[in-house]
Amino acid sequence: MAARRYGADMILAPSNKLIAHLDMNSYFASVEQQANPALRGKALGVCAYLHESGCIIAASIEAKKQGMKVGMTVREARLQVPGAVFVENDAAKYRAVTSKVFSLLRELTDKVEHYSIDEAFLDLTGWYRDAAEASWALTRVRARIKNEIGDWLRCSIGIAPTRFLAKTASDFKKPNGLTIIDRENLDSILVQLQLEDICGIAKKTRRRLERLGIMTLIQMKNHPIGNLMHEFGMNGYFWWCKLNAIEFEDVVMAETAMPKSIGHSYCVPKQTNREGKVLPVLMRLTERAGSRMRKLGLRASLIYVSVGFANGPEKRGSFWQPQVGSGLHIRFPEPVDDSFSLLGAASQLFQDIWTNEQVNFLSVTFSDLSSPTNQIRFNDAAISYCNTQERRIRASRAADAIRDRYGSAVIVYGDMMRLNKEAPDRIGFRKVEGLEMQ
Ligand SMILES: [Mg+2]
Repeated sequence: MAARRYGADMILAPSNKLIAHLDMNSYFASVEQQANPALRGKALGVCAYLHESGCIIAASIEAKKQGMKVGMTVREARLQVPGAVFVENDAAKYRAVTSKVFSLLRELTDKVEHYSIDEAFLDLTGWYRDAAEASWALTRVRARIKNEIGDWLRCSIGIAPTRFLAKTASDFKKPNGLTIIDRENLDSILVQLQLEDICGIAKKTRRRLERLGIMTLIQMKNHPIGNLMHEFGMNGYFWWCKLNAIEFEDVVMAETAMPKSIGHSYCVPKQTNREGKVLPVLMRLTERAGSRMRKLGLRASLIYVSVGFANGPEKRGSFWQPQVGSGLHIRFPEPVDDSFSLLGAASQLFQDIWTNEQVNFLSVTFSDLSSPTNQIRFNDAAISYCNTQERRIRASRAADAIRDRYGSAVIVYGDMMRLNKEAPDRIGFRKVEGLEMQ
């Protein structure tokens, strides 16, 4: 196909920003090794559940060298790395360390984005003259992480004019690397990367790019943007901007980065079914998500519950794989955040979905989130509703405060009394997570 040239007069200016990306290396495993010196220097796997079919969510640097990978089961990891040590993840511990690291980063700039539990973007524009000065400041932060938080913690740092290039730079040398990408060395960095290193490009897209004569990222960078957009739409535009150091997304500060939804999920073991604890587990997930939502000052208009059945038609593979059987939602007449409304709705949805079958997956999600408004209501029914609602909200917040101080087990509702270790606190590591104790 003859190449058509588009947008020759399109004006897009390269970014003049100073963006840094800090990525903690082998984070959960390093924190575990920091906390327990006996684990240091050993091949360590941190797993979702300490069970042969539990999934590895982090591997120590020593374990990675021997081929242990995130996503393996404990059984597979043990076969790959004989003699490896495994520990169950401890979400509260990782959040506590992350809070300390991020508070050091906030001393560098007012714009710190908590991108995930172990990654942050910093907009250093205006705070430092150039990348060299920024790298000096970040090297000092790295030394402070080592001296003040833990000498076993390592991080890699990238500095560049855009978020994409800063993240690419921090990935460039691990562990403990510091890489600067600027317009002068951009091509020499891109030449070492593959087309698939850009988010959104896999085998199929690579073949389409190759048909256009684009074999390398340098060729894509120098390709007319209009032609890329003609072939790939907005994706083509974003790829081209990324490679040409043009910024199209801002560093989002923590206080403005409000989630669109909040929820929790759990793979339910057979034992929990046998003991009739499935509904109490759902209550625990609902209460935990509700507590997080209240701490962010948000209310939900919609609750969605999903239940996966072990023998359902969508079952694939082994028992522990989460399979969504069916889901239902309730839309509240007014946005709510109190435990009573949320637990009542979750329980009702579960009863509507459940058919006495064995459950292997549960999830609860609150969405259409909003901040409370101070609307004035006039009629008596509305005032009475407000009073009841107000008491419920105050009771829920009081319970949150007591749990924060004395632990999550001190206040539970009804059947949750029967729960023991089911649905432990877990960590989400690819999303912006609240760092407060859950
Ligand atoms: Mg990391």
